[in-house]
Amino acid sequence: MSKDWKPRTKLVHTGIRRSQYGEVSEAIFLTQGFVYDSAEAAEARFLKAGEDEFIYARYGNPTVRMFEDRIAALEGTEDAFATASGMAAVNGALTSMLRAGDHVVSSRALFGSCLYILEEVLTRYGVDVTFVDGPDLDQWRAAVRPGTKAVFFESLSNPTLEVIDIRAVSDIAHAVGATVIVDNVFSTPTFSRAVELGADVVVYSTTKHIDGQGRALGGVILGTREFIRKTVEPYLKHTGAAMSPFTAWIMLKGLETLDLRVRAQADSATRIAQALSGDPRLSRVIFPHLRDHPQHDLATAQMEKGGTVLSLDLRGGQAAAFRFLNALRIVTISNNLGDAKSIITHPATTTHQRLSEDQRAALGITPGLVRLSVGLEDAEDLLADLTQALDAV
Ligand SMILES: *Cc1c(COP(=O)(O)O)cnc(C)c1O
Repeated sequence: MSKDWKPRTKLVHTGIRRSQYGEVSEAIFLTQGFVYDSAEAAEARFLKAGEDEFIYARYGNPTVRMFEDRIAALEGTEDAFATASGMAAVNGALTSMLRAGDHVVSSRALFGSCLYILEEVLTRYGVDVTFVDGPDLDQWRAAVRPGTKAVFFESLSNPTLEVIDIRAVSDIAHAVGATVIVDNVFSTPTFSRAVELGADVVVYSTTKHIDGQGRALGGVILGTREFIRKTVEPYLKHTGAAMSPFTAWIMLKGLETLDLRVRAQADSATRIAQALSGDPRLSRVIFPHLRDHPQHDLATAQMEKGGTVLSLDLRGGQAAAFRFLNALRIVTISNNLGDAKSIITHPATTTHQRLSEDQRAALGITPGLVRLSVGLEDAEDLLADLTQALDAV
């Protein structure tokens, strides 16, 4: 494996462990256990397992290890640990390193289940959590204190696509010795520069762009070898959120085409955002690389492309949003993202239904807001579908 390979080469070749049969496509090692040549060999492996020595699939598995090596090579971290879902990755990254009495600072605009972990789970075990408005650096400066153990944020928030300055927040966190944990799903691994900008730990729901075809749940935690093997692995191998070998194989195959897919989706998202921008029926078209995005300069500096998701705010509120969704013929109503199929969701009545009206208003989740995940269809077909649905409203 060459460290100098470009991302597309890494995504096809890194991490391969060929069996004695010399298979071209990565093998799925659907085994929960591994046999030892002797009692002494078993004893030695339990004492210290080598690089490619496995004990039990909850601890590690060759197919899962291939996936971990490949995604770590892309992200530019020393190591990775794969998990059963994105939430297992977020929970594993935070819970493995925190204990009662620790302090964490987090941005407020979070994926609903991430908010649950920070607000309900960590606090239940005596972790003190302070929430800030992610784009407001003064709030981060005021919230961290000597001894703050971690800061957590989504680099691009859901569904209003606020951009958080990874370098600036990392500098603030590192000044007090805190670990920077970034949920980077919306930025995608292809456009991520999180580690280069200062993040210590990056987590992904691989359910999104890495699978990219809506088949399986998965997650991954990326960081230094020390953090992954000494902090994350002991916690996850004993608490059980391991990725299955079959899922790891799906994710490996997803990685092979990730760069091509995500770039095509981001180009279509840009095309659609530009075409719909200024439409009188929409009060807002939110896309990080549109010139009127409040953090346009930061977004273009931090991400090579604007991502694969955009949000539209219909002037007619919820009634108009529902008529719009129901009139779409190609774009499907669902709540996944990063999929080959374009998917649209109405956050106020689905993903963010649990929040109070005030909380939704504070996050910019208005009754007319819809979130569009742009898929792999032809951009002109998508635009025609969106336009005819707007006409139908
Ligand atoms: C989907 C998502 C998660 C959770 O991932 P699952 O695979 O559904 O468990 C976490 N964070 C963000 C930003 C997400 O979009």
